[in-house]
Amino acid sequence: MAKVIAIFNQKGGVGKTTTNVNLSACLAELGKKILVVDIDPQGNTTSGFGIDKNSLELSTYDILINNVGVDESTINTNIKNLFLVPSNVELAGAEIELTKSEHRELALKNAIKKIKEDYDFIFIDCPPSLGLLTINALAAVDSVVIPIQCEYYALEGVSQLMDTIKLVKKNLNPKLEIEGVVLSMFDGRTNLSIQVVEEVKKYFKGKVFTTIIPRNVRLAEAPSYGLSILEYDPKSRGAEAYKELAEEFISNMEDVI
Ligand code: ADP
Ligand code: MG
Repeated sequence: MAKVIAIFNQKGGVGKTTTNVNLSACLAELGKKILVVDIDPQGNTTSGFGIDKNSLELSTYDILINNVGVDESTINTNIKNLFLVPSNVELAGAEIELTKSEHRELALKNAIKKIKEDYDFIFIDCPPSLGLLTINALAAVDSVVIPIQCEYYALEGVSQLMDTIKLVKKNLNPKLEIEGVVLSMFDGRTNLSIQVVEEVKKYFKGKVFTTIIPRNVRLAEAPSYGLSILEYDPKSRGAEAYKELAEEFISNMEDVI
């Protein structure tokens, strides 16, 4: 039975998609069977895996609005063990169309339920908002991974993020947990990055992954080739960091079992 995890932070540009693509790729390389569900109308995860988001047959939109099964919408990526439900800008319309539906918050959860047996992990890449798409993701998952950028204002918006988690826990998904916080785009040369790490660790107490993702230009370049960092530059610091994160992630799970 898959563990279902949302990569969540309503701020844009904090490293959600980069973490989703590369953590998934590293877990797939470790032999885990992964499904990534792109629930961001920007479709950056979709193009990040080299899929042309403008020529999709089926997408997350069809799952949410047209009752199409997750299995039907799933496509292969170039990476062994890694599968994708793609999305594109069409999904922006789902946010409005869903409001008319009776099960508007639970559409994704109900769809994912049917294929949970088929994977080890299912990752959902959230859009940078707290709208109905994000609520669908939070209602569907066991836990959230929260990427936080090591920049000024890193903790801005975090209390809103925590309030949303609390609200979803209370009303839709009582078992929702924080899997861990990923510090991203760390620059060891700046005091600011070091300070942010301290602050985030203080705020989230034991919930921060030990592995910190450095700012690494190879991570920023890889998506324009439609490649994960393991394919683009497996020896880069970015690749090393995401491999280490994947190992830490799995070892945390084993501690629980
Ligand atoms: P989000 O999905 O939260 O909006 P992204 O993962 O798309 O954030 O990251 C925002 C931008 O920063 C992208 O251009 C991405 O390539 C770049 N980026 C993300 N993580 C890193 C990193 N560790 N080092 C350098 N650039 C990064
Ligand atoms: Mg993104």
